[in-house]
Amino acid sequence: MSGLPAVAGAYALIIALDAGSGSLAPGRYIYAGSAWGPGGIRARVRRHLRTTKSIHWHVDRLTFAGDVAEVITLPGGRECAIVAAIRDLPSITVPEPGFGSSDCRGCPAHLLRLPDTLDGDTIARALWTVSYEIIDR
Ligand SMILES: [Zn+2]
Repeated sequence: MSGLPAVAGAYALIIALDAGSGSLAPGRYIYAGSAWGPGGIRARVRRHLRTTKSIHWHVDRLTFAGDVAEVITLPGGRECAIVAAIRDLPSITVPEPGFGSSDCRGCPAHLLRLPDTLDGDTIARALWTVSYEIIDR
């Protein structure tokens, strides 16, 4: 994970949950977050990837229980734009309303469940649209 940018922005974690956790069934999830503090995206994502940490955020529960299969970074981006782009894909569901989005009024949650039928290319294309829009501004 040495390629993580130490700048402010948003990131998405694709998390594989083999056994389920709390109300979350086994499956693939995408969590959208943002990092505007010191160390930016790099510091925040490294924290998510650590296996020893205190439970501070909602998502910590999930990174403990599952595996972070993929990290997508969007320097200068917003996590709500990630949620909006992914929600447009077919068969996306919101497994736990309010998950990770207690300080956000626009999104139902910052965690979405990815159906098994959705391939990585489709997800990547949807997120590329987000970063493209940001770069284009
Ligand atoms: Zn949001």
